[in-house]
Amino acid sequence: MLRLDFAPELADFRAQVRDFLHDALPADIRRRTANCEHIEKSEQQRWDRILAAKGWRAPNWPKDHGGPGWSAMERFVYDEEYSLASAPRGNPAGVSLLGPILISYGTEEQKRRFLPPILSSEEWWCQGFSEADAGSDLAALRATACRDGDDYIVNGVKLWTSYAHDAEWMFLLARTSKEERKQAGISFFLMPMDSPGITVTPIVTLGGLHMVNQVMLDDVRIPSAYRVGEDGAGWRIAGSLLGHERFVGARLAPTTALLQHIRKLVNVYAGCDKPLAADPHFAAELARLEIDLLALKATAYRVMSQETPGTSPGPEVSVLKLQGAKLMQDVADLLASIAGPLAIADPGSATGTVPFDHQLAYLSQQALDLRKLTIFGGSSEIQKNIIARRILQV
Ligand SMILES: Cc1cc2nc3c(=O)[nH]c(=O)nc-3n(C[C@H](O)[C@H](O)[C@H](O)COP(=O)(O)OP(=O)(O)OC[C@H]3O[C@@H](n4cnc5c(N)ncnc54)[C@H](O)[C@@H]3O)c2cc1C
Repeated sequence: MLRLDFAPELADFRAQVRDFLHDALPADIRRRTANCEHIEKSEQQRWDRILAAKGWRAPNWPKDHGGPGWSAMERFVYDEEYSLASAPRGNPAGVSLLGPILISYGTEEQKRRFLPPILSSEEWWCQGFSEADAGSDLAALRATACRDGDDYIVNGVKLWTSYAHDAEWMFLLARTSKEERKQAGISFFLMPMDSPGITVTPIVTLGGLHMVNQVMLDDVRIPSAYRVGEDGAGWRIAGSLLGHERFVGARLAPTTALLQHIRKLVNVYAGCDKPLAADPHFAAELARLEIDLLALKATAYRVMSQETPGTSPGPEVSVLKLQGAKLMQDVADLLASIAGPLAIADPGSATGTVPFDHQLAYLSQQALDLRKLTIFGGSSEIQKNIIARRILQV
């Protein structure tokens, strides 16, 4: 039997993290997160400030930029305990995506200006990469940034921009020159969301939630001091960022927490005449998902043990994203199936009268919302292409 035991010092670290999260996470935020309810920006910022005071707000940042300087394994343990404690994750664009990019590619002035308010959660970011005909084929993007004195003038339409309605800033890709190779001539910018010429239009997705938006950019001025890296270096910088995004998209920790939740429910009657544990189909499905998670974690440990500090994850992270996203969808579907017909109730009408501690009505909303996992951060088909070309080299 495969055993995934941690070194004794990691067990001590795990206990420390667990105790802190248990004591510090406000009960109302823990309850709402456990129920899969939406956490408002102000609530998330309340919790982020507690993490910032502890120095744990940016687990993936080095110490000299305000991170805890943890090893990859410590980060993994922290992430797992974070989900098990039902702590909310909020908007990852600043801390998980842009932060490592600014640390690697930003000027000293950009680091000084932008990293502290990301750490304190005072400024939220959104990611303006995708457009209507530039998702999987991101290099086909058409937004332009034309130099005008010390500024660039940006025009275009970004689509599926998560948190654009909540964010003070956007990091985006725009074309600064037309080159034969479409990956060339793309630059990486930082843009205040209150600039004149920006229109944000909400898009409500399958689960009934407003998270993504369309963002129209009409003659928006961006000072050249807000360009990250050289003119035309955007594609290389974006590639490094997408590696971090795929790691986030693997969702191993939240899936671990969801599976533990299901384990707690298996002896409960759920609107039918026998406990879930006695249903052989349910038991077999649960066992399959637990085994898949164990196998994926073994792969994750292997990937992390090869990680060199300060570099971006390699193509192996596509295996984690591909398998992890699908696994979390399957786990969420199983959880929703426990609720049976109750899972399609209106979340707003959920009451405390359900037979176990989860607000069942949010489960179907969650299962529908998680369809996104196999689309964003690079769809599953794109991850397969990366695995074929860069790992299997077919
Ligand atoms: C909930 C959500 C949040 C998002 N948030 C953001 C965000 O904050 N910022 C941002 O920039 N973007 C965001 N996106 C956009 C996301 O990155 C894109 O949706 C994704 O890259 C897919 O692009 P697309 O939607 O244009 O689909 P397409 O690229 O048109 O793909 C359509 C289908 O064709 C398949 N396909 C495409 N090309 C190939 C190929 N070469 N080989 C095999 N199959 C292929 C795809 O897998 C998919 O099934 C978000 C998307 C969602 C759903």
